[in-house]
Amino acid sequence: MTFLYKSDPVRGAVWAERFAQQLPELPFRIWPDVPDPRAVRYLAAWEPPADLATRFPNLEVLFSTGAGIDQFDFSVIPETLPVVRMVESGIVNGMVEYATLAVLSLHRDWSTYRQQQQEGRWEAHRVHPAGSRRVGVLGLGVLGRAVLERLGSFGFPCAGWSRSQQQIAGVECHAGAEGLTAFLARTDILICLLPLTDSTRGILCKPLFDQLPSGAALINVGRGAHLVQDDLLRALDEGQLSRAVLDVCEPEPLPPGHAFWTHPQVVLTPHIASMTQPETAVDAVIDNLRRHQQGLPMIGLVDRARGY
Ligand code: NAP
Repeated sequence: MTFLYKSDPVRGAVWAERFAQQLPELPFRIWPDVPDPRAVRYLAAWEPPADLATRFPNLEVLFSTGAGIDQFDFSVIPETLPVVRMVESGIVNGMVEYATLAVLSLHRDWSTYRQQQQEGRWEAHRVHPAGSRRVGVLGLGVLGRAVLERLGSFGFPCAGWSRSQQQIAGVECHAGAEGLTAFLARTDILICLLPLTDSTRGILCKPLFDQLPSGAALINVGRGAHLVQDDLLRALDEGQLSRAVLDVCEPEPLPPGHAFWTHPQVVLTPHIASMTQPETAVDAVIDNLRRHQQGLPMIGLVDRARGY
C-alpha cells in the first residue's frame, strides 16, 4: 500500500515528514517517484494524471490538495472512485483572514484614504457603523459559515445564500433561485464563496449585479469563472458597483494589459486568499484515511452529481 502525493513538492516534503511521524506503516511517495504504481491506494493531487485509471488500477481514494475540485477532469476519473476535497483548519483560517481584511477595507474606505495620501490630501469622510453595512455570502459551506461567524462579531448584519435551506444563528439564510433576489436586495458587500459548478459558472453577472443596492461592493474568493468580467467592468463604470476585490481570475495569471490590473476600483490578489497548510492538511487526510479504513464517511467527500 502506498500514499502518493502529486502537488507542490516543497509542501510535499512537509507532508512526507508528518506522514513518517504519524503513519509510518503507510509508505509515502512524492510524484514522480512511484516504483510500483499497482501499490498506490491513495493519491493526493491538485492535478491528477489523465491516465490515473489505468496507471493506478488499485486506487481507493483520490484526495484534492485544495478546497475545490473544479480543476479535476471527471471524465477520466472512474465513477466509483471516492473523491475527497480538502477540509482543514488552515484553509478556513486563511479565508476568514482574507474576507475580514477585504470587508473591513471596503467598509472603512481604505482605498480612498490610500489614494488621498498619494495626493497629499487630508480629508475625513463619515465613518459608518458596522451595523449599517449589510454583508452577504454566496455559499454557506465550510468557508462561508466561518467567514460569516467572524464578520458577525463586528456587528455587520449577515446573510447567506445556498442551494439547500440552512439555519445559522445570527445569519439570515436564503436558498435557491427563489431566495436569491431578497438576499441580493439587502446586501451591500457581496462575497462569493461558491464552488465552481455548471450551475454557478458566470453567476456574478449583470442580472445579479442589478439586484444589489446601487454602490454595492463585490469580493470574489470563489473561482475566476464565477465572474463575467465585462459585466463587472460595466457595473463599476456605471456606479452600480463601487468596488471589487478579486482574488481569483479567469485565466490565472491574469494576462498583461487586462483592465483589472490598473482599474482604480479593483483590488487584485493572485489567488492567495487561503492556502492548504501542510501541517493541518496532513492531520485532516490521516483522519480521513482512518475513517475510510473503518468504513466511516470521509470529511469532504464530493457528491459528483451535485458537482461539489
Ligand atoms: P462547501 O463546503 O462545499 O460549500 C459550498 C456551498 O455553496 C454550500 O453552502 C452549497 O449549498 C453552496 N452551493 C453550491 N452550489 C450552489 C448553487 N448552485 N446555488 C446556491 N448555493 C450553492 O465549499 P467550501 O469549502 O466552503 O469552499 C467554497 C469554495 O471556495 C471552493 O469550492 C473554492 O472554489 C473556493 N476557495 C477559494 C480559495 C481561494 O484561495 N480563493 C480557497 C479555498 C476555497 P448547500 O449548503 O445547499 O450544499
